[in-house]
Amino acid sequence: MNHPRAKKRLGQNFLVDESFARRIVGALGPRAGETVIEIGPGRGALTALLLEGGARVVAVELDRELAPVLRERFGGREDFKLVEADALGVDFCAAVEPAGSARVVANLPYNISTAILQRLIEQRRCVPEMVLMLQREVVGRITAPPGSAERGYLTVLVEAFCKSEALFDVPPGAFRPVPKVWSTVARLRARTDGIEDFDEGLLLRLAGAGFAQKRKTILNNLRSAPEDLRALFEEAGGAAGLLEAAGVDPQRRAEALTLAEWVALTQALSGRGR
Ligand code: SAM
Repeated sequence: MNHPRAKKRLGQNFLVDESFARRIVGALGPRAGETVIEIGPGRGALTALLLEGGARVVAVELDRELAPVLRERFGGREDFKLVEADALGVDFCAAVEPAGSARVVANLPYNISTAILQRLIEQRRCVPEMVLMLQREVVGRITAPPGSAERGYLTVLVEAFCKSEALFDVPPGAFRPVPKVWSTVARLRARTDGIEDFDEGLLLRLAGAGFAQKRKTILNNLRSAPEDLRALFEEAGGAAGLLEAAGVDPQRRAEALTLAEWVALTQALSGRGR
């Protein structure tokens, strides 16, 4: 079957180097009978290896022109389910039934990788582990330690809910069409170590405000936070009072803060830990 042309707007850079496809699936290590979610199966480079490894694959693909390609390769198999939908709107807990949870593997479309990560993290109850290929810079941001200029909202989002590790790089030549950037495969595991109790939504809103302008101090960024957040700060003595209550020096930048300090700020604001 002729393949439809790759679509840039859907981030279509297909993996054509099978040795990398094997390394990615090997990093997941699917067990026989295990349900695995694949986001953006494309032409099936990873799907074929997942099935070969004995996994039951729930593949979520937005491009309707690719559905016939996937059906021709894998249709009719009981261990392959194609969900023709935007992964950003999929209820993964429902999609993997009768399994209660499923690990994820994906060569993600780079233009929506942050949004998909956010969505997967929201549903981490059903998605305990992910092996994801992302733009190398994005993995750099996800794994950036406190004090690194690469640290940002995405770092805090991932760190608050997952343990992450970069596994290996993949060169542009492994894809068609050839992208301009390098990729990195990373593993994210939902945290089970139960870091302290905190209001998740509030932590993300605080981080969003704190990183709004990376060159500003945390104090100045929080002072420019959206109005409803600032109204909350008032109860804690304003942005300066909040930082003091959490023991955070107001002259630091958001990138210097550790996850424990973001949690302390969240707790100081929500009344817990005061
Ligand atoms: N897994 C294949 C591979 O490794 O060759 C394809 C990877 S390609 C980088 C990204 C895939 O994600 C494409 O098949 C694209 O159509 C699909 N895609 C893009 N946006 C999507 C979305 N919102 N939901 C589901 N799939 C999407």
